[in-house]
Amino acid sequence: MNPSCPYCSPKLTSSDARTLVRRCGSFRRKSDSRSVQRFHCRRCQKNFSRSTVHPAYRQKKRQFNDRLRKLLCSGVSLRRSAKLLHLSRTTVARKLIYLGEISRNELRESNLLHEKCQIVEFDDQETSEHTKCKPLSITLAVESKTRRILGFEISQFQAKGHLTKIALKKYGPRKDTRALGRKRLFETLKPLIQDNATFKSDQNPFYPGDLKKHFPRAEHIAFKGARGSVVGQGELKKIRFDPLFSLNHTCAMTRANMNRLFRRTWCTTKLPARLRDHFAIYAVYHNEMLNRGPTSAVRWASSRTSSLS
Ligand SMILES: [Zn+2]
Repeated sequence: MNPSCPYCSPKLTSSDARTLVRRCGSFRRKSDSRSVQRFHCRRCQKNFSRSTVHPAYRQKKRQFNDRLRKLLCSGVSLRRSAKLLHLSRTTVARKLIYLGEISRNELRESNLLHEKCQIVEFDDQETSEHTKCKPLSITLAVESKTRRILGFEISQFQAKGHLTKIALKKYGPRKDTRALGRKRLFETLKPLIQDNATFKSDQNPFYPGDLKKHFPRAEHIAFKGARGSVVGQGELKKIRFDPLFSLNHTCAMTRANMNRLFRRTWCTTKLPARLRDHFAIYAVYHNEMLNRGPTSAVRWASSRTSSLS
């Protein structure tokens, strides 16, 4: 059946729109050697194809999308990915934005398909933007036991300790947007979590108030923080039983798998928006590939071919 015209069909009923469309040759797409059917709309006289409405429309290197996604979630930097795939750095930088955008939608949609979550663990993970004088906070929420990433938000705050004075002198005052970040995170979590869910976190004094506003019927359990262990990327704790293990293990995995979050790396985030993109790409890969055992590789391959190219 012919598709409806993307340029004028929203103004017509769908059956009308389809009769107005006729086939009009085809073209061979160079990037994946596929033949794509072209159509012509008799009403607005415009040509289009099924690719016109595809998210990868006008991409010349679409065959690299999935490989790049895997590299970015396996501790490879943007520049090294460009080298390995024989792409330019600009192409990789553009693809990061594209993959981030579709990953955010994928994360939301795939989480909505799951049953509503009963026990949630959440906390802030720290990183920085270009320099430690400009710290960033990643507020992360994870389902207990399964370690499924439910949502995350990136926010900024002022440098702490001996860097406070240096940061103020060099970069001026810096806004603290962590409260706004938590608000946005809780808004996105609402449809994914049961009303009477249990939230586990550390003893951050701001958590109980914010949680009460968004989830009035939820129970909140705060645990005392513990020292990080070196082998656990500073995220796994030096205690025998960690009540926030699912969250801390996920944080450790993000540190081991995203180059910009490594400890003592010279690869940093230059723009918080790109960290947001990269984190979204990782979150989808984490939920669908890393968290699901050995058979997930096959499922991943079959689900990707349609959505990315
Ligand atoms: Zn039309």
